Amino acid sequence: MNAAAAKNNDIVIPISLEWFITESCNLNCRYCSKDKPKYSEKDYSRGLSVIKKEKPKHIWIGGGEPLLVESLGAIIEEARASTGAKIALSTNMTMPDRAIDVMDNIDDLIISLDTADRDLSMEYRCVDPFQIAENIEKVTAAAKKKDKSINVTVNSVVYRKTLENDGIAELNDMLGRVSGDIYHILCPMFPKTHPESILSDEVYLERFRGLVDDLKKKGRKVIMNYPVGDGGNVPRAGGYRCYRRYFRLRMIENDCFSPCPGADAGNPFCHEPCNCAAFVDDILFAKNPEAVKCSPVAGRFTQDDIGKIERFVRERINPDLPGSVYRHLLRYGN
Ligand code: SF4
Ligand code: SF4
Repeated sequence: MNAAAAKNNDIVIPISLEWFITESCNLNCRYCSKDKPKYSEKDYSRGLSVIKKEKPKHIWIGGGEPLLVESLGAIIEEARASTGAKIALSTNMTMPDRAIDVMDNIDDLIISLDTADRDLSMEYRCVDPFQIAENIEKVTAAAKKKDKSINVTVNSVVYRKTLENDGIAELNDMLGRVSGDIYHILCPMFPKTHPESILSDEVYLERFRGLVDDLKKKGRKVIMNYPVGDGGNVPRAGGYRCYRRYFRLRMIENDCFSPCPGADAGNPFCHEPCNCAAFVDDILFAKNPEAVKCSPVAGRFTQDDIGKIERFVRERINPDLPGSVYRHLLRYGN
């Protein structure tokens, strides 16, 4: 680990490890924060040794565009074999054949696609949404043929222009036609201060909530994803109380670090809230035991791990939460 990680002794147990395996990307989205240098293959053995040492329960691999990494298939295979972790791959799905090549060791495929409005999609990301939908269909068909179970999620960044027409609802229809099993995550653009973010404008936020309600009423698999502060409000400039960073490691190329960029060590308030590893909140707060039961890390913890999580929650979050809510996380038989 680098100096930032060495200073941080706060990780309780690395439930989630996020590996930004490359900054390179074949797209150039208008809102992207990456540097996007030209891709060249690296030696990823240092990153793999961090994974083997930390043994996270869930590994998210993203970028940049991770499918540009030529050795990705071998890396994922080794990461999975050495940890038993669930593996999620985040991709722009412009290279379906590469996705098919590496799918054997992937549990979750997370695909970025914002809207079915072709002009808007071309303007912001230079991708044709209909082509991406075809690519998703190709990959899901290949998985079916192999009898490989893979959860497909489409992640839409929601910004003001996407709420000014029916592009998101049309995208949701389009995904439903590809497969009834695709989850559609709607994630407002961060940070809140970005001029195109809907989070700083109550009119857009109301429109967003209405859209999600409409899609849910139609029985669609749609998830509204943003961290909510006290009282269910979108976090304000004053900070958002977050405990996820005590359970989350981030790795950029081969450099592993935590804490998160938006928080100082020892302070649970974050000024740059993100949605990353949001499923960890379900475990920490356990407001809904069903969410713990369905967590991507259910069945992956030892009794010792659960003890550490329980102690942390009892001391810092909720002294009264019964430990029984964590039973679904326990790995039986070892
Ligand atoms: S697909 Fe992702 S990494 Fe690539 S340019 Fe777009 S936002 Fe950036
Ligand atoms: S909300 Fe802030 S502290 Fe929490 S995981 Fe995101 S960046 Fe880290």
